[in-house]
Amino acid sequence: MSIVYLNGTFMPIEDAKISPLDRGFLFGDGIYEVIPSYDGKTVGLEPHMQRMFDGLAAIGIKSTRTLEEWKEIIQTLLAKNGNGNLGVYLQVSRGADVKRYHAYPENVEPTIFAMTTAIKAPVEADASKAKGFSVGTTQDMRWKRCQIKSTALLGNVMHFQEGYEGGNDEILLYNADNILTEASSSNAFIVKDGVVITPVLDNQILPGITRKLILDILEKDGSIPFEVRDITMEEVFNADEVWVTSSSKELAPVTTIDGKTVGNGSVGKVWEAAFKLYTAHKFEY
Ligand code: PMP
Repeated sequence: MSIVYLNGTFMPIEDAKISPLDRGFLFGDGIYEVIPSYDGKTVGLEPHMQRMFDGLAAIGIKSTRTLEEWKEIIQTLLAKNGNGNLGVYLQVSRGADVKRYHAYPENVEPTIFAMTTAIKAPVEADASKAKGFSVGTTQDMRWKRCQIKSTALLGNVMHFQEGYEGGNDEILLYNADNILTEASSSNAFIVKDGVVITPVLDNQILPGITRKLILDILEKDGSIPFEVRDITMEEVFNADEVWVTSSSKELAPVTTIDGKTVGNGSVGKVWEAAFKLYTAHKFEY
């Protein structure tokens, strides 16, 4: 049975109830996080929590839990759910008012919810064994505040569905200038001539924690050069390797884009080297 946390109490998920007037339900008015954990050990807990605090501040929801209180909630939840390969999902919505009205209500307590979801065991950093992802591409039609990890995910959901219906694992998104932004639920990287390249963070992109960790690990290690800059879709199609990254999929190598082969069609050696480093260092964050 799945145990969840709702507004101060741990309970079976069947017992967790929220009001239909909750603004998370009515407006998608909330912030969420997903933190990966393996056998009770989290990856990137503090950067994940910092991003959640930044998101809450950006939309004017007052944090009602400190970092220490969140850590306690997360560790308790993991233990109650058996400490396997679990993603910890956290959501804070603006709470339930007595009416449906767009303006932020005053004196309403945020709704605080946390649960765990099963995530895949980490794959081996071995290019000969890794499964290549296939992705589609489409113009990014989401809103202009993608740096906020809002629970209002319909734009992302519709893009993901477009990829899914095309038989793909993900879909890469590009803006009106044909510049790669990210993917519907992941950040994106390309590799060209041994150099790892990923888009610059701005309002078109979620500042992914996996992305942040990879860049930090690459920088500290120094053996794989990287650049953070605009990437045209032409560069994407001509790349030697393409990766998509997220907390639940870590670094996933892409071998097909719109049905066309990436590079030589097999999972790349730079992915293997970078993923080895990520695997060795991820628990340091
Ligand atoms: N971009 C989008 C749109 C996402 O939904 C996600 C994952 N939630 C990411 C990037 C990757 O972020 P992270 O590495 O923090 O999981």
